[in-house]
Amino acid sequence: MNTNLEDNYRHKGLRKQLVDQLRAKGITDEVVLTAINEVPRHVFLDSSFVELAYQDQAFPIGSGQTISQPSTVAFQTQLLQVQPGMKVLEIGTGSGYQACVLAAMGAKVFSIERQRNLYFKTKDILEQLPFRVKPFLGDGYEGLSTYQPFDRIIITAGAPTIPTTLVEQMKTGGIMVIPMDNPDGDGQTMLRITKLDDGSLKKEAFGDFKFVPMLKEIGND
Ligand code: SAH
Repeated sequence: MNTNLEDNYRHKGLRKQLVDQLRAKGITDEVVLTAINEVPRHVFLDSSFVELAYQDQAFPIGSGQTISQPSTVAFQTQLLQVQPGMKVLEIGTGSGYQACVLAAMGAKVFSIERQRNLYFKTKDILEQLPFRVKPFLGDGYEGLSTYQPFDRIIITAGAPTIPTTLVEQMKTGGIMVIPMDNPDGDGQTMLRITKLDDGSLKKEAFGDFKFVPMLKEIGND
């Protein structure tokens, strides 16, 4: 049971300041900014980090993983061009924060986490929040064949390749946002991949980021 679920005026005020910071850092999509303003980030962090929850920083969330930095969440979400009602698949549930931001925009979110303990911890928090997110324990490389095809796919771990199974599970006209490992082994380049009518992929690059690695199979952390 999470004890941080209260969302008070102080949290709301800090969140508004965070949104202003993100705007100053170049996030222009007001729908994304509204969603960030709606989702209480402190409930996804261990209580010792509550004071820091609204700084633009990544934090440890257990199982050797991190909750992404708000500006990274906002950037990936902006690239994803989500419309209400869309089916969105996230790889790397982590804390559940990114998934809730997408759900706050009206998406139906399906999210896969490979770390068993983290999956159960986050599932417990998600059940106490009003956002429409369905969490799954599994290997994101395999996607979710039962729920495909997806309008959008967002990967929140550094990927060595574009997973072919995920491309197959994406609708024509669908968009995937994926941090792809740089060839020199240093961080990732954010890619937006659009599946065109003839099945080919249009790729656009949007700068460098640093993510934890996308690993295969279920882990026991
Ligand atoms: N989106 C998260 C950030 C997660 S960090 C948030 O908002 O907090 C990346 C996450 O991807 C980690 O939790 C890691 O365990 C998970 N991950 C790595 N490889 C994976 C895979 N193949 N399938 C599913 N999850 C994976």
